[in-house]
Amino acid sequence: MSVLDELYRETILKHYQSPKNFGPLPGATKRAGGMNPSCGDQVEVMVRLEGERIAEIRFQGQGCAISTASASMMTEAVAGKTVGEALEIARKFHAMVVEGAPPDPSLGDLLALQGVAKLPARVKCATLPWHALEEALR
Ligand code: ZN
Repeated sequence: MSVLDELYRETILKHYQSPKNFGPLPGATKRAGGMNPSCGDQVEVMVRLEGERIAEIRFQGQGCAISTASASMMTEAVAGKTVGEALEIARKFHAMVVEGAPPDPSLGDLLALQGVAKLPARVKCATLPWHALEEALR
C-alpha cells in the first residue's frame, strides 16, 4: 500500500468513526433519503436553506465505512455553499467515482474516495448520500 493509499484509508476511517454533522436537524427545510440494498446502507440528508445558501446540513442513518465517510465529507464540503455550488461539487464527485475522471483537487478530503472508481460494488455506497443531497436540493 502506498503512502497516499494509507493516508486516504486513514481519512475514510476518521470520518467513519467520528462522522461530521451526524444526527437530526430540527430546523431542516429540505430532506431526502436513500437506500443501497446491495450493501445495507441507509442515509437521510437534511438541509436548512437560507435563501440559496446551505446554512446547515446534517445526515443520519447507518452504513458502511465508504457511505458514512462519503456523507460526512459531503456535509463538510457543501456547508455554507450555495445550491448551485453544492451541485457543482456533486458533479465533480460523480465524475471522479462513477466515471473515473481525473479528480478535481478542489474536492479536498473527498479525494480519499477516488479509489472507489475501481471498485464497482462500492460506487453505490459512495454516491448514496450525494443522490439524497441532489434530491433534497432539487
Ligand atoms: Zn456500503
